[in-house]
Amino acid sequence: MADYEPDCLFCRIASGEIPSDRVHEDEQVIVFRDINPRAPTHVLAIPRRHIASVADLTDADADGDLLAALFGALRSVAEGAGLKGYRIVTNVGAESGQSVFHLHLHLLAGRPMTWPPG
Ligand code: 5GP
Ligand code: ZN
Repeated sequence: MADYEPDCLFCRIASGEIPSDRVHEDEQVIVFRDINPRAPTHVLAIPRRHIASVADLTDADADGDLLAALFGALRSVAEGAGLKGYRIVTNVGAESGQSVFHLHLHLLAGRPMTWPPG
């Protein structure tokens, strides 16, 4: 799988072809606001390179570094926004509700959360 997939929405957001409201970016990761927020704070952390979902991660050190970068970026955004609590979730496959097949971690905050998710 190439690092950039021309038909992938989030590859196009990562490249800047499609605009997004970015709240963090670094060498590996971009965090931007969800277009259809499900909570007062709802952002998505994505890798710059194309990976379809958690199911496509490998045991390679590079993927471990990437996961640390994704969670670290969200921690940094949460600290910057003064969030006291938040939920991080990722859907894997259409059955779970995944609709964009480029790995993304949702961070939701600012309202009471139910458990388990619906
Ligand atoms: P999924 O359903 O795959 O877990 O999450 C995809 C998320 O991407 C959804 O929450 C949806 O609102 C968001 N989304 C879809 N298209 C766009 C877009 O063009 N821009 C932004 N910022 N978010 C998008
Ligand atoms: Zn992609």
